[in-house]
Amino acid sequence: MGEHVIPLADLRYAADRPAIPDQPGPLVPGAADRLGRPLHDLRISVTDRCNFRCTYCMPKEVFDAQYSFLPQSSLLSFEEITRLARIFVALGVRKLRLTGGEPLLRKNLDALVAMLAALRTPDGQSLDITLTTNGSVLARKAAALKAAGLRRVTVSLDALDDTVFRRMNDVDFPVADVLGGIEAALAAGLSPIKVNMVVKRGTNDQEIVPLARHVRERFGHGVILRFIEYMDVGATNGWRMDEVLPSAEVVRRIDEAFPLCALQASAPGETAERWAYRDGGGEIGVISSVTRAFCRDCNRARLSTEGKLFMCLFASRGHDLRALLRGTPEASPCTDEQIGAAIAGLWSGRDDRYSELRGAQQATPPGGHRRVEMHYIGG
Ligand code: SAM
Ligand code: SF4
Ligand code: SF4
Repeated sequence: MGEHVIPLADLRYAADRPAIPDQPGPLVPGAADRLGRPLHDLRISVTDRCNFRCTYCMPKEVFDAQYSFLPQSSLLSFEEITRLARIFVALGVRKLRLTGGEPLLRKNLDALVAMLAALRTPDGQSLDITLTTNGSVLARKAAALKAAGLRRVTVSLDALDDTVFRRMNDVDFPVADVLGGIEAALAAGLSPIKVNMVVKRGTNDQEIVPLARHVRERFGHGVILRFIEYMDVGATNGWRMDEVLPSAEVVRRIDEAFPLCALQASAPGETAERWAYRDGGGEIGVISSVTRAFCRDCNRARLSTEGKLFMCLFASRGHDLRALLRGTPEASPCTDEQIGAAIAGLWSGRDDRYSELRGAQQATPPGGHRRVEMHYIGG
């Protein structure tokens, strides 16, 4: 496990203070990046902590009792998150996804959801607000989240078999509690619910068909099961290509058990390829992040727990928006217009397309900076 030891500076990912134009003009929504992609989604990580230790995301050997998570003082407050979200909405963002770490571990998260739900687009529309969770405490929180304005939820679930599930979350958490969370979310009206399964060949790929069967029979159209290719995010999970099960193989296995037909993408920038059961029993999705890169339509920006903006899941460098919000010893806090202009400048210079370039690149980017970890930046 020696190669899994990472330095204590782990969370101090390289970040710069974004440049502020001298005379910021009005914010222009919908501006495209260098590859013509508009800014549409903002993923907001609300904590870097988690009660699971999924082997592909926060391996126990690295994220142990000695690991330094971010101190409370460096986290963005709910007011700061909401202020930034308002600025992003003025720049064209229409969808917010709360993530982490495990977002439901952040205290009073429903209060943040209510603050975000009060935001409006320039033409008076509310935002699409959703959340990705491991489901462990969802049964207790689903109703309050819905009441606060959450529209939908995505639950991660890597196996139906209890032994396999406990081994994957590596904290002996029972699958029944996550299934109970999904039931509670359905009862609260947080649907359609998406359930995400990360597939690792040789670890949980035998669970593909049983999970598909269970979701079809138990939840029908209320739940869309999606299979995600195991990705080489971060630097701690010991990723190997031979543990990736291509989505085409997932579709083949399910089609053999329950015949499928292809569906159209539901929205531009949609990461999942959609398939319907021919017998009308619902739909599934596959997210081919490794074998079929979808950078061309990637319209997502990511905000870390302590306010760094990342333009790509595989970026090694962030942009310190918290320094603009709070000011620094060298610079005073910025206005909304200044922050908006800084973000617009960053987006217009964006040319990230890591997945398309994967293979031609090295695991560690040049310059010695490590890529961000998934629990830090969110999925
Ligand atoms: N804790 C929450 C959860 O698990 O849903 C939210 C954060 S988690 C980082 C977001 C998503 O990233 C989850 O669906 C998780 O399965 C996925 N994920 C984490 N590491 C991954 C990897 N190496 N490859 C593919 N997906 C991964
Ligand atoms: Fe936690 Fe989600 Fe990462 Fe699993 S995938 S360790 S639940 S943050
Ligand atoms: Fe978007 Fe980066 Fe993923 Fe490509 S690799 S889809 S640019 S987050």
